Amino acid sequence: MMINHHKISTKTSILAFGISLISSITFMLFFLINNFQALEKEYNSTINTISNSYVDSLTLSAWNYDQQQINETARGIKRLAYVLDVGIQIPPHVTIAPKITESRDIEEKVITLIHHGEVLGQLTIYMNKGIIFDKVVTIAYKGIAFAILLSLIIWFSIRWTIRRYVTQRIEELASQIIQHKNDHQVTPFKLSNPENAPLELINIFNELNQLMSSIHVEREKSDTYKKQLELEANYDPLTKLPNRNNAVNKIKSIIAHTSLNQFAAIFINFGTFRSVNESFGREVGDRFLFHVSRKIQQTFPELFCARVSKDHFLVIMPYAQQQELINNIEGLVSKLSNPIEIFGAHTPIKLKVYVGVSLYPDTTTDTEGIFIQGEIALRLAKKDNYLVVYNNSMDADFQYDNKIRLYLPIAIRDHEFTLNYQPIVDAKTHQIVSVECLIRWNNGQIGYVRPDIFIAIAEEEGLIIEIETFVFNQAFADLEKLQALLNPDLVMAINVSYLHFKSSHFIPFIQSLVKLYHINPRHIKLEITERIFLQEDAHVIDKMNALIAMGMEIAIDDFGTGYSAISYVKSFPFSTLKIDKSFITAMLESERDLLLIKNIIHLSHDLGLNVVAEGVELAEQASTLADIGCDMIQGFYFARPNTLQHFISINESALL
Ligand code: C2E
Ligand code: CA
Ligand code: CA
Repeated sequence: MMINHHKISTKTSILAFGISLISSITFMLFFLINNFQALEKEYNSTINTISNSYVDSLTLSAWNYDQQQINETARGIKRLAYVLDVGIQIPPHVTIAPKITESRDIEEKVITLIHHGEVLGQLTIYMNKGIIFDKVVTIAYKGIAFAILLSLIIWFSIRWTIRRYVTQRIEELASQIIQHKNDHQVTPFKLSNPENAPLELINIFNELNQLMSSIHVEREKSDTYKKQLELEANYDPLTKLPNRNNAVNKIKSIIAHTSLNQFAAIFINFGTFRSVNESFGREVGDRFLFHVSRKIQQTFPELFCARVSKDHFLVIMPYAQQQELINNIEGLVSKLSNPIEIFGAHTPIKLKVYVGVSLYPDTTTDTEGIFIQGEIALRLAKKDNYLVVYNNSMDADFQYDNKIRLYLPIAIRDHEFTLNYQPIVDAKTHQIVSVECLIRWNNGQIGYVRPDIFIAIAEEEGLIIEIETFVFNQAFADLEKLQALLNPDLVMAINVSYLHFKSSHFIPFIQSLVKLYHINPRHIKLEITERIFLQEDAHVIDKMNALIAMGMEIAIDDFGTGYSAISYVKSFPFSTLKIDKSFITAMLESERDLLLIKNIIHLSHDLGLNVVAEGVELAEQASTLADIGCDMIQGFYFARPNTLQHFISINESALL
C-alpha cells in the first residue's frame, strides 16, 4: 500500500484554510440571519411610515381633490425603499393606476382613506419583498468572497510561517544529516538564524549534537577496534612484519595495478630453525626470529618484507637485471649468516640461510604461482645450493621430490635399501684403514635415488631413525666379513643423522647392537655433521662421552661446508675431522683453499684430531695431501663405494 506523505506546511495550511473557510461561512450565516431580520424590520417599518406619515396627507389631499398633491405624495411613497409602485383610487376623479404586472414577490397593501368617518378612496401599495432576498444574496456573495479571501490569507500566512520557522530548518537539518552520512565527519549540526528558531527545534539540534558526539566516541572506539583486528589479521604479532595474508594481498595488488612490471619474490628460510627452539627454548627462538626480521628490514628498508610462516620470510624486490638481484640477495644472506648473539642462548646462533626466488612475470603471473614456485625453489636450495631462482624445469624436481616422499615408507616396508662401503686409506701407505658405509636405494618405479636427497627427505618426514636402524644392523653384520677381507683392524665409519643422534633411544640402541653382533666398539666410528653444533647442550656432549667411553670414535663430517669454526670442534670430543670434498676439489686451483686445508690439518693435529680428506679423485691431490700431513684419504682415486659382494669377489679373484 502506498502512503502519501505530505509536507507539514501543506497539511497544516490546508487544514487552516478549511477551518477558516467553515468558520467564516458559519459566521456569515449568523450575520445573514441577523441581516435578514433587520431587513424585515426595515420592510415593516416602511409600511408603518406610510401609514403614519403619508396616509394622513393623502387623505387630506383626497378631501381637497388636490390632484397635484396626490401625485406628489404618490411619488414620495414610491421613493421609499421596498415600494415598487402605488395605486390610488379616489372616486370619482382621481385614479393612479399601477404599472405593475402580477408577480409572486409583490405584496399588496391596501389602505382605505377615511376622513371623518367617510371613505374617500383607497391606496394600494405594491411592496417588493424580493428586495430583501436580493440584498441577502448580495451580502451572502460578498461574505463568501470575503471568507475565501480570508481563508487564503490564513492559508498563505500559516504556510509561510511554518516553512520559515519549522520545515525549512528541518530540511536544512536533513541535508546536514545527509552530508554527515557522506563525509563521516563530525561537525556539529548548525541552525541558521538561531535567534528566531523555535525552542523545540533548538532542543532537537542540541539533542542531536549530543547524540552525534556520543556516536563519534563510539565510532572512534569501533575504529580502533577495527584497526586492531586488521592489525592482527595482517601483521605478525612477533616481528610486527606483514603476515602471509598481507603478503598475498600485496602481491595481488601489485599484479592488479601493474605498479611493477617485474619483481622477484624472495623466500628466505633458516636451516634447522626447529633445533633452536629445541635446544634453547621457544623464547630464544622468538628472539632469533625477531632479530633476523629486523636485519631483513634494515637491509631493504624501502621494500615489502613479510613473515609468511614460522621461519619463512618474504621480500618483494623490483629489479632490472638478474645479476643485480642475485648480488642483493647474496648481500642479505651473508648478513643473515653471521653468528647472532641471542639473549638466553649460551652460544651464538648461526643457521644456514636458504633462499628460493620466484620471478614475476618470467615464470608465473599469479599470486599462488609465486608462492608455489618460491617454495619449490626453496626446497631445492636446501638440497643443492643455498640460493635457487625458480625456473620451469624445476617442476620436475619438485615432482621427483614428492615421489620420493611417497615411496620412502614403501621402501622401508619392502627393504629396498642396501649398503655400499667405500675404503678410506692411510695417506702415506695407502693401506685401507677403514670403510665408510653409504646407503643405496634403487626403487622399481623411480630408479636410483641419491642418498643425500632421500636422507634429507627422510629427516623431514620423520623416517630417518627407521632407515638408520637398517644401516646400523647391516653395517654391524658386515663388519666382521669386511675385516676378514680388508684389514682385521678395519674401522667401520657410519653416518648418523643429527636427529637420530639426538633421540633418547640412540645410546641404548647402539649398546644393544654392540651386544647383538659382538662388535668391538673400537671398530666403530660415527660420522656426524656440523648440524650437531646447534645441539650444543649437555645431552650431546654426554652422549658423545658415553659412546667414547664404550670405545667408539666420533668424526666431524663435511667440515667447512657450514658455519662451524675449528673453535667449535675443540669443545667436542671428536677424534677425526673430515674435510669436505669441495675443498679437495678446489685445492689444486685455489691457493686459498690449499692454505685453508693446511691450516685445518695443523689446527686439528694441535687439538689431537686425525684428518680425513674426502673426494680425492686425482693422484696429485692424494700426494699433496700426504705432503701437507693429511692422515687419511677417501675418494674415487682409491676406491668407489661398493657392495660387500664386490669386495668378496675382488678378494676371490686376487686369490686365484
Ligand atoms: P658423505 O657422508 O659426505 O659421504 C661421502 C659421499 O661422497 C658419498 O656420496 C660418496 O659416494 C661420495 N664420494 C666419495 N668419494 C668421492 C669422490 O672422489 N668424488 C666424488 N664426487 N664423490 C665422492 P653418497 O654415497 O652419494 O652419499 C651422499 C651423502 O648421503 C653422504 O655424504 C651422507 O651425508 C649421506 N649418507 C649416505 N649414507 C648415509 C647413512 O647411512 N646415514 C646418513 N645419515 N647419511 C648417509
Ligand atoms: Ca660421511
Ligand atoms: Ca662427507
